[in-house]
Amino acid sequence: MRVDILGVGFDNITMDQAVAEGVRLMSTEGAHYAATPNPEIVEVCREDEAARDAVNGADLVLADGIGVIYGAKIMGTPLKGRVTGIGFAQGLMARMAENGKSLFLLGAKPGVAEKAAERLREQYPGLRIAGTHDGYFQEDGPVVEAVRGSGADVVFVCLGAPKQEKWMQKNGEATGARLLVGLGGCLDVFSGEVKRAPEVFQKLGLEWLHRLIKEPRRIGRMMKLPLFLIHAAGEKGKKKCRES
Ligand code: UDP
Repeated sequence: MRVDILGVGFDNITMDQAVAEGVRLMSTEGAHYAATPNPEIVEVCREDEAARDAVNGADLVLADGIGVIYGAKIMGTPLKGRVTGIGFAQGLMARMAENGKSLFLLGAKPGVAEKAAERLREQYPGLRIAGTHDGYFQEDGPVVEAVRGSGADVVFVCLGAPKQEKWMQKNGEATGARLLVGLGGCLDVFSGEVKRAPEVFQKLGLEWLHRLIKEPRRIGRMMKLPLFLIHAAGEKGKKKCRES
């Protein structure tokens, strides 16, 4: 069952359940895709119907970011917990390495996906990287062909949101892959270009703060977080009025 948070339906599942479902989908006939929206993306979806459609059309919608968890709580429909995109990707890769599935890395600046591939092969012995492509292309066709030609089972699509969700919705089927996962800036982290927040920040749900310290220019985008919480509180208020 999905929990509606300001128009985006989130799967109410734990990380283990999400990875198990991802593994099931990558072995199931047809193309499937997963989205990992944070509060910023929920706010984008409120304004952009095509983005909302692409996110809600995913087979798995995971609550990436502590803000979504707070928002759900405020609205009186708590979620089981946070399922970060990066953690989900790591869980999938561990399982893929065990059962011989192959992965295509799509996105980020030229050279980054290749670097990520090198490091991931070391971290997950047995993981087959079918191919890579940067995220700064003009036409989808050749990229879709590259994925298709690689025979990849899974594609990590890292073009930023909501571009990646729209891309997966439009092209998922044509890539021939079974599972596509929208993962924002994950390739920058996997390649070592960007450092993930120290564990203490991760445990406290403060990864956003670490990111803001490292990249202060993100302040404009991050202002969407308080806005999201205000909207969640407003929606809860409206619901209460309707019920009374
Ligand atoms: N990116 C891309 N193609 C584009 C725009 C962005 O490949 O046309 C990449 C960008 O290089 C970065 C990622 O998409 O690696 C987006 O990262 P960001 O941290 O902004 O995404 P978020 O995780 O916040 O959605």
